[in-house]
Amino acid sequence: MAPRGHAFFVIDSFLLLLYHPPMIHIPPRVKRFAGHFHDAGHELYIVGGAVRDALRKERNSDYDFATSATPQEVMDLFPRVIPTGIQHGTVTVMFQGEPYEVTTYRIEHGYSDSRHPDAVSFTRSLHEDLSRRDLTINAMALDPRTGTVVDPFGGRDDLRDRRIRTVGSARERFSEDALRMVRAVRFTTTLRFDPEPDVESAIIVLAPTVAAVSVERIAAEFEKMMRAETPSLGWMMLWRTGLLAKIIPEILESTAVDGLVEHLFRSCDCSPPDQPHLRWAALLHDIGKPRCSGQDKRGQHFIGHDEESARMAETLLQRLRFPKQFTTRVVHLVRHHMFDYSPDYSDSAVRRLIARVGVDAIHDLIRLRRADTCGKSGHLPTHSVMDELQDRIHRIIAANAVLTRSDLAVNGKDLMQYANIPAGPVVGMVLEELLETVLDDPELNTRERLLSIAGTFAAQRLGRDPQESKSAL
Ligand code: ATP
Ligand code: MG
Repeated sequence: MAPRGHAFFVIDSFLLLLYHPPMIHIPPRVKRFAGHFHDAGHELYIVGGAVRDALRKERNSDYDFATSATPQEVMDLFPRVIPTGIQHGTVTVMFQGEPYEVTTYRIEHGYSDSRHPDAVSFTRSLHEDLSRRDLTINAMALDPRTGTVVDPFGGRDDLRDRRIRTVGSARERFSEDALRMVRAVRFTTTLRFDPEPDVESAIIVLAPTVAAVSVERIAAEFEKMMRAETPSLGWMMLWRTGLLAKIIPEILESTAVDGLVEHLFRSCDCSPPDQPHLRWAALLHDIGKPRCSGQDKRGQHFIGHDEESARMAETLLQRLRFPKQFTTRVVHLVRHHMFDYSPDYSDSAVRRLIARVGVDAIHDLIRLRRADTCGKSGHLPTHSVMDELQDRIHRIIAANAVLTRSDLAVNGKDLMQYANIPAGPVVGMVLEELLETVLDDPELNTRERLLSIAGTFAAQRLGRDPQESKSAL
C-alpha cells in the first residue's frame, strides 16, 4: 500500500502544481516600493481595481496601495511625500521618479447622510480595511512581494461565477453610501456580471437616497459605464431599479411611446464605445418625442422632436455637469439627427448639408444615423445609403470645396473696403448670402465676382441703388 500512497501523493502534488493559479505580473518597481515598507516593519498591499483586473487577466496600471503605516510613518519613510488627501489617510509618495498613491488602512464610522462617513479612523488591520469596501470583487488585496492574494469575502469565487455581491448586507452597504448602488450598476455593466438578487432588491428600496450623491460622482460612474461593450445592460438596470427615475427622469418620459426607450438603449449600444459623445447622442436623440405628438402633412410623426430632444439633452447634460464642450457636441448631433439624404441629391445639396452641420460634425452625424438604424434593426447596416453619402463627402472635402465663410475668396474687410458696405451686421448677412451662392455654384468663388454680387446683396439689404455700391468697386 505504501508505494501506491506515495504515488498518489506525487500525482496530487503534480496536479496541484498544474492547477496553481498563474502568477500575477507585478512590475519590479512596485516590488521594490513594497520592500521599503516591509523593511521598516509595515505592510503594503495593492488593493481595489488593479487586483480585480489582474485576476481577470486584464490590464489596469492604476495601482492603489493600502498600508498599515500611518501617513506620518509613510512620510518618515520617504523624502518626497505629497499629502494629497491626508484627511482620508492618502498621501502620494514620489519613489524613483514615479508617484504612488498610498492610503492607510481605514475604518469608517456612521453614515448619517447616505454618502459620507461621519468619521474615519486608522487601523493596523488589513481585514478591517477590506471590510469597508463596496463589492467582494473590489475587496481583495495583493502582496506585491509574494503575489499572495488576500480575499476574505470570496471575491475570487465571485469573479469566477461572474457575480456582483456586496461585502456583507447590500441593504446596509447601500444605506451607508448611496454611490455604491451606481457603482454596482457600473460594474454589472462593464464586467457583464449578474447582480445578486439582494443587490437589486436593496437598490429598489434605496433608490431615492441616490439624491445624496453629487452629480459629478454619478457622472464619473456613467462615463465608465458608457465605455462598456453593452451600456444598455446598465441603463436597463437603472430603469428597473428606479435609479433612472431619480437621476435622469427625462429618459423615462420615453416610456410613453411604445418601444422608444428600448430603441434609445439599443442605439446607444450600436455606437462606438470609445466615442462617448456619440453614445450620449444616440441615447438621447429621440427623448423629445413624447412631448411632440404632432404630425405633419407628409404623415411624419413627432414633428419638431429633434429640436425638443436637443433642448432636453442640453438641460440634463448641464445638470450632470458634463464639460461644456462635450454637451455642445452632443446637443448639436441630436439637433441635426433628422437630416435628409438620398443618392439623387445634387452635389450642391450635399455641400449645403455639410455647411449646415459643419465639417467637424458631419461624420459623427452619419455614425449617429447608423446607430439609429441599428437601434431599429438590431444590427449595423452594411452597404447603406450612408456609405455612399460618406464617399461623396470625402470627395467634396478633398476637392477643397467652399463650405464655410472663411473659404470664400473675400472676407468682411474686403466687403467694407471694396463693396462699400458699412461696418455692422450687414457684413455678416452678406457673407452668409455669398456662401449660399457659392455652395450652389462654386465657380463664382472669385474675388471679382463675389464683390460684384456683394454690392447687389448689400443694396437689397440697405435699400439703396445697386449702382451706388458697384461704383465703389
Ligand atoms: P477602476 O478600475 O474603474 O478604477 P476601482 O475598483 O479601482 O475601479 P475606484 O473608484 O478607483 O474603483 O476605487 C478603488 C477601490 O476603493 C474600489 O475597488 C473599492 O475597493 C473602494 N471603493 C471605491 N469607492 C467606494 C465606495 N463608494 N464604497 C466603498 N468602497 C469603495
Ligand atoms: Mg481605481
